[in-house]
Amino acid sequence: KPLNVGFIGLGAMGLPMAANLATKLPTGSRLFVFDVSKAAMEAFTKSHPTSSEMCDSTRTVAAKATIIFTMVPEGSHVRSVYLDESNGLLTGNVQSGQLLVDCSTIDCETSSTVHEAVKTRGGTGSSFYDAPVSGGTLGAEKATLTFMLGCSEKDANYALLHALISLMGKTIVACGGPGLGLVAKLSNNYCSALIALATAEAMNMGMRSGMDPRLLARVFASSTAQSTICDKWNPVPGICPEAPSSHGYRGGFKVQLMRKDFGLAVEAARRVGAKLLLGDAGLAGYTDASEDPRCRDLDSRVVFRYLGGDEG
Ligand code: NAD
Repeated sequence: KPLNVGFIGLGAMGLPMAANLATKLPTGSRLFVFDVSKAAMEAFTKSHPTSSEMCDSTRTVAAKATIIFTMVPEGSHVRSVYLDESNGLLTGNVQSGQLLVDCSTIDCETSSTVHEAVKTRGGTGSSFYDAPVSGGTLGAEKATLTFMLGCSEKDANYALLHALISLMGKTIVACGGPGLGLVAKLSNNYCSALIALATAEAMNMGMRSGMDPRLLARVFASSTAQSTICDKWNPVPGICPEAPSSHGYRGGFKVQLMRKDFGLAVEAARRVGAKLLLGDAGLAGYTDASEDPRCRDLDSRVVFRYLGGDEG
């Protein structure tokens, strides 16, 4: 049956995610959108004139939609979207039974604060879910994202959430409970960032010692250094023709976003007393690379260039 859905944050990820909703929601549904950038909203509603509607604030989205997705950069933006005293989602006439789903990659503390605020200030029976994603802008366009949902499959709203999220993603993992979607996302990105760094270091070492990079990548691919990073996102230019590294590191996942996620993961580990041997080193590497003008704004696998492997 028709649904009134909200989407807040029409950026690199949010725009294609919202576009999938606009074109795939049941007939008669409405998609209410808001972004601090009016241009982003105008472009979106122009592309989806019959199914979408521009709102003047997050508060207006809250008044019109029963299920709202948010996709903004950092914890501070999530706080502002949900908790702002005059315009936040939790001000004004909040609807009962409203579902609020945050897909941003943010710190666990902010997510838990918003979760508590929805319990006390949201409408009767409304719920908040963390649901960060993996798969990048291409996955967002093709609706092949992986969603890490902070609830169990037994959650009363799971079936509805699953049906809606399936319009934007391919794999949905119910991670068990509130906040665990973010835990899964940060753990994944911690691991993936370190694999990229280790692959870049090892390739650089082999190449400087005279090894042909393609042969070295072939050895890795059939030995114990094999990984998705090595096979599909190799940090060394010319190994994977489709990878950003083979196109001047353009596209992909920006190094400063990886730095942000890595920092959040290190902070999350510290909070639960999980010992990290590689956390400080990885954080220093990604911080330096993010600030390096030869690397900034490029795909995070540009750490190979940062290490001196590629002249740029
Ligand atoms: P982005 O900067 O491209 O887009 C963010 C959008 O949010 C912008 O349009 C901005 O105007 C809007 N915004 C900011 N504050 C707002 C507010 N208070 N109210 C309404 N709108 C607001 O960022 P992105 O790349 O789309 O990333 C969004 C989130 O997704 C981040 O947490 C990021 O880490 C995560 N993520 C990104 C990728 C990726 O490949 N880009 C992949 C997975 C996860």
